[in-house]
Amino acid sequence: MTKVPEIFGSMVFNDTVMRERLPKATYKALKKTVENGEPLDITVANVVANAMKDWAVEHGCTHYTHWFQPMTGVTAEKHDSFIQPCGDGVIMEFSGKELIKGEPDASSFPSGGIRATFEARGYTTWDPTSPAFVRDTTLYIPTAFCSYTGEVLDKKTPLLRSMERLSAEAVKLLHLLGKTEVTRVATTVGPEQEYFLIDKDLYEQRVDLKLCGRTLFGAMAPKGQELADHYFGSIKTRVSAYMRDLDEELWKLGILAKTKHNEVAPSQHELAPIFSTSNIATDHNELTMEIMQKVAERHNLVCLLHEKPFKGVNGSGKHNNWSISTNTGENLLSPGKHPETNNQFLLFLSAVVKAVDEYQDLLRITVASAGNDHRLGANEAPPAIISMYLGDDLDALVHSIIDGGDYHSHGRERMQTGVDVLADFKKDNSDRNRTSPFAFTGNKFEFRALGSSLNIACPNYMLNTMVAEELSGFYEALKDAEDLEAAIHELIRETLTAHSRIIFNGDNYSEEWVEEAERRGLYNLKSLPEALAHFMDKKNVDLFVKNNICSEEELRARYEIDLETYCKQINIEAMTMVEMAKKNIAPAVSAFVRELTDTALAKKALSDSIPVDAETEVIERLAAAQSRFAVLTKELEQEARAAAAIEDNQERAFACRNKVFEKMEALREVGDSMEEETSAEFWPYPSYTDLLFGV
Ligand code: ADP
Ligand code: MG
Repeated sequence: MTKVPEIFGSMVFNDTVMRERLPKATYKALKKTVENGEPLDITVANVVANAMKDWAVEHGCTHYTHWFQPMTGVTAEKHDSFIQPCGDGVIMEFSGKELIKGEPDASSFPSGGIRATFEARGYTTWDPTSPAFVRDTTLYIPTAFCSYTGEVLDKKTPLLRSMERLSAEAVKLLHLLGKTEVTRVATTVGPEQEYFLIDKDLYEQRVDLKLCGRTLFGAMAPKGQELADHYFGSIKTRVSAYMRDLDEELWKLGILAKTKHNEVAPSQHELAPIFSTSNIATDHNELTMEIMQKVAERHNLVCLLHEKPFKGVNGSGKHNNWSISTNTGENLLSPGKHPETNNQFLLFLSAVVKAVDEYQDLLRITVASAGNDHRLGANEAPPAIISMYLGDDLDALVHSIIDGGDYHSHGRERMQTGVDVLADFKKDNSDRNRTSPFAFTGNKFEFRALGSSLNIACPNYMLNTMVAEELSGFYEALKDAEDLEAAIHELIRETLTAHSRIIFNGDNYSEEWVEEAERRGLYNLKSLPEALAHFMDKKNVDLFVKNNICSEEELRARYEIDLETYCKQINIEAMTMVEMAKKNIAPAVSAFVRELTDTALAKKALSDSIPVDAETEVIERLAAAQSRFAVLTKELEQEARAAAAIEDNQERAFACRNKVFEKMEALREVGDSMEEETSAEFWPYPSYTDLLFGV
């Protein structure tokens, strides 16, 4: 393998390349846009476009594409070649206009009713803050996507807006605190990505995996994750080869892939990058998920990013490590040695506490999906109740602020291993709480309720916006204070007192917490339809409209799209189940029952004294299950059709959850019980043992 520093970023039109290839004035102008958000001039764009094209062509490119993140849940691209007729032949050209603006057909992307099909025009606009890159002989240009009339139709635009909002509010507050050298503040994200790898030949035999990304039937294997022998276990040769390949592909694209390991469930793994600014982290995470799937093909594997591919073992999530730092290199969530006297830290911490409490429903909504509904609250992922974990030390500090008592930091204790040859080291301030949805981990928060396939733009624009809103309130409360120090203390005390209910350091998986949370008045929104019912609550609409993230109409569009996507996914799953049941499972069980019957009859024909109880017992059990299975299949089909006919999205979503999904669970139970009784030779699908232990 080539040396990592040599391949790292080799496919990216990054700062080094720009410095090398752009005239000084152009480079400076572009930098001003990227770093200070200044508008970009078309003459600058022309020069940049030409340099980009030359560089891309040298890297084997023939095409370019505007790459964007519509509301479909996957990224979108449309490739155009660089060719321009010239005499009898062609030359390769790329203009500033083409770099800045693209015109995909907006009506074919979800718009939640904003766009009618005849109003087709939409625009993609270059996002110079995320570098262009080369993949498969094409120059990829990260862009934002909006409609002809300017409505936001993607996930990137609100994210970029929220970052600017948060920066503006944080800078104001920092200036008030005397930090006038700070001119910009950025949010940073490091998303830890979980995934499953299974054998492609087995995958091809499972229509449920192909159409829905998860198994809709499947009896549990005799072994699951109970021995805890997979988590951090030694990585199998085939998986290791895959991971090596994946790292190399990611590094070429400048993605800081850092950590890889086996996860809890068999066949489950994780990849974590080093953090970067939120928008780059978002683009990189989208790329990472795509490349994970592409690289898998080369190894005859399939990478499953669904939140719950297998019932009975853990599903996959994504941990959104989030922090805020200044352009002077300071992490605003860093407590420092003396958090008790660190006004800056305490103000930013209080803003986050207040935001998470006031907008807990939004944080829950942003992680809601048909797939993630299988995880939240299922004792493998944080519960559907949003709360925060601060750790013992900070918790003690918060309490001393609220009660006016004394606070003594434990500081960082030394860890003594008791073995001479092992070096002692400093312990972290707090232990980890793996059950908390929103945990403080030293100098960042880890939002742990995200599903594995989610685009992280949404949770991050919500998080940024709500914190920006609180910072703005803080600034207003402090800006005219006569005694700033006293006002800050009072504000911190008031805020933490008013919002301490959101802080919970205990076991989020316990039954007691569900009751306690209810007493505290926290939301417990168990499924997507329940969560989304709060999306359009006035305080949420006000938040986005006031902060110019999106209009009420755009927000409603997002709400409708989320509901529609959910309903469609449940419907596809239901119909896939019906098809599997009718076309494959029922006939397979019938054939097996016939075989058993034939065997029993043949035995009887030989002699009445040969026992046939082994056959008849199984036949009886299967026959009973068969009729129940047939009834449930029919009922599921009816429920799914009835739900699909409901006009109102919210109502339809509730029907999908309460009627269709419930019926799917019932059908699966019978199906799985039949799998346990049926000969493997007759069963039409690879088993959980094959799937989970096949690589
Ligand atoms: P932990 O062990 O607490 O999970 P790690 O150092 O393993 O911490 O980091 C987990 C993830 O958090 C990584 O992706 C890392 O890059 C990211 N991370 C670390 N610091 C920050 C930060 N300031 N902002 C955002 N993400 C961060
Ligand atoms: Mg972590």
